[in-house]
Amino acid sequence: LSVNIVNVMDDIINVIDSITEREISIEKSNDFILVKADQDQLKQLLYILMDNALKYSEKTIHVRIFKKATQAVVEVQDYGKGISQRDQERIFDRFYRVDKARNRDTGGTGLGLSIAKSIAEAHDGKLSVKSELNKGSTFIVSIPVLIED
Ligand code: ATP
Repeated sequence: LSVNIVNVMDDIINVIDSITEREISIEKSNDFILVKADQDQLKQLLYILMDNALKYSEKTIHVRIFKKATQAVVEVQDYGKGISQRDQERIFDRFYRVDKARNRDTGGTGLGLSIAKSIAEAHDGKLSVKSELNKGSTFIVSIPVLIED
């Protein structure tokens, strides 16, 4: 039940690298940050954020992983279409999609972020967003690090 979150993100980026030409930069403070998590669920959570960053932006995606006090933090930053303040309050709701017509070509059900948030919360963690319309978005996941005693 202990998972190296850095490794999980590396695996996801390797898969994305093998199927797209998109540029992804990764900054990690450590090679190992152990969290108490279900590996598949953690992978699903991080994959949802990466998939959205790929869908809603065109430039390089920046990933940062670091420890902050008792938390493992993963930030996924894109320089894409961004999300208005008003929509930021709704995007974690089930089935909510910003501008359905405009997003038709990018598919999606509007479930991704609600699943991502419930996985974070099931691990005593958090998922939040900082975003500015037409500038880009940063999704921030924090999950408690594993403290062995
Ligand atoms: P899927 O369930 O396949 O992921 P989705 O992308 O529509 O479909 P969510 O992941 O829940 O669903 O995202 C909800 C909405 O939030 C999206 O429709 C999109 O409008 C907005 N959104 C999510 N991530 C980003 C992002 N990185 N940049 C801009 N908008 C985003």
